[in-house]
Amino acid sequence: MSEVLYMDDMYLKEWDTKIESVKDGKFVVLEKTAFYPASGGVEWDTGKLVRKSDNKEFKVIYAGKFGGIISHQVEPENELNKGDDIHCMLDWDRRYLLMRYHTAAHVLSGFFAKELGALITGNQITTEKARIDFSLDDFNREKIVELIAKSNELIEKDLPVETYYKPKAEALADQNMVKLANALPPDVENIRVVDIKGFDYQADGGCHVKSLKEIGKIEFIKADNKGAKNRRIYYRLV
Ligand SMILES: [Zn+2]
Repeated sequence: MSEVLYMDDMYLKEWDTKIESVKDGKFVVLEKTAFYPASGGVEWDTGKLVRKSDNKEFKVIYAGKFGGIISHQVEPENELNKGDDIHCMLDWDRRYLLMRYHTAAHVLSGFFAKELGALITGNQITTEKARIDFSLDDFNREKIVELIAKSNELIEKDLPVETYYKPKAEALADQNMVKLANALPPDVENIRVVDIKGFDYQADGGCHVKSLKEIGKIEFIKADNKGAKNRRIYYRLV
């Protein structure tokens, strides 16, 4: 089981480790990784692995989670082997942008839940734009625009964002905690919490900025009605 470094240090950009296994010449499992795998609607990290024996570089073009294990797809193929010592580097510009988007999604979801009673049903976060899906009876575009303005005001207040762990039973008993229908991770004893101090906390295994101002500004792109109750909004960071 590889150690997942971003859970406790989301600003880690480089580290050393060994290759635990290689499948089909290109799917690499590392003993320690900070590559975030595509999950929770957030895109994957990219970067590179440098083999220490000869300094040869391998691109990480995708990271995914399979059976609970983070697998890294590398290029070129058929060269890395189990036991190789490597130095890992994230494409930090991409990761940091995804972190800013992810925390922005929590700010928006927090307002939609608190002020509209909306149930958040999904997220999609890329480096270009993001969307949030939610379920709501009455759709009012002006209200959405107003909540985005409120989100930007909150970001200006620069609240700290903390991560910590709570026993699962305690997390499950907390109504405030699970707004995403599929937010709770599977069989783990402790639930990781992402807490925008004084605003909103969620069970979450993703990467976030450590204070709100790092997000920048949320810009509304558009809103769609996707059926009787399903709404979708698109936004970008500027
Ligand atoms: Zn999240």
